[in-house]
Amino acid sequence: MKQNPNPDLEEWFVQVSDLRQMEYCSRVLYYRYCLSTLRPTTASMEIGERAHQTARLAEQRRSLSRYGLPNGTRKFDVLLSSSTLHISGRLDLLIEVEQPQKQFFPVEYKDSQEVHNNHKIQLAAYAFLIEEAYSTTVTQGFIYLLPLRKVETINLSAKLKFSARQRLEQLITMIYSENMPPAATQKGRCIDCEFLHFCNDVF
Ligand code: SF4
Repeated sequence: MKQNPNPDLEEWFVQVSDLRQMEYCSRVLYYRYCLSTLRPTTASMEIGERAHQTARLAEQRRSLSRYGLPNGTRKFDVLLSSSTLHISGRLDLLIEVEQPQKQFFPVEYKDSQEVHNNHKIQLAAYAFLIEEAYSTTVTQGFIYLLPLRKVETINLSAKLKFSARQRLEQLITMIYSENMPPAATQKGRCIDCEFLHFCNDVF
């Protein structure tokens, strides 16, 4: 049975982070949305949240120069949603610059040594949510690699945003069809997966 991930909301929303998970293994999302299985909070998730909090505190003490941006305002943990696309998410950081023109830049913190395609897809999804919320066009964002304390600039092209929308459509279709997707092609991803004991076709 399909589970509403946001039971406090009347409307039915998937989450931006789901699009990142779609790149990794969409079957995890099948378990989450189509079976009444609670996803446990893992130790790595708790460590990741602590790293995010540390980065947030450090960010408040720094200028925007490391993003190559002039002065602007920063908003942390920005809740974004689209009632037309039925997706919501909490962006780590939104930078708003006024000069030479008003522009918005999404920033995501990642506990990773490098930027992966699923990070870009997630950032692109935030871009189209910002575009809808602020009636603007978002062309650039940033991934902050926590272990390296390094900012990577991401070109948020129309092609990348289209890919994010495609993932969203695939996710919605999968949820409503309740068809279990194939297992992850890279079996190494299954080793530490909390759903491994539900997947009897991977090893
Ligand atoms: S065990 Fe592998 S195939 Fe099954 S949900 Fe986890 S990552 Fe996907």
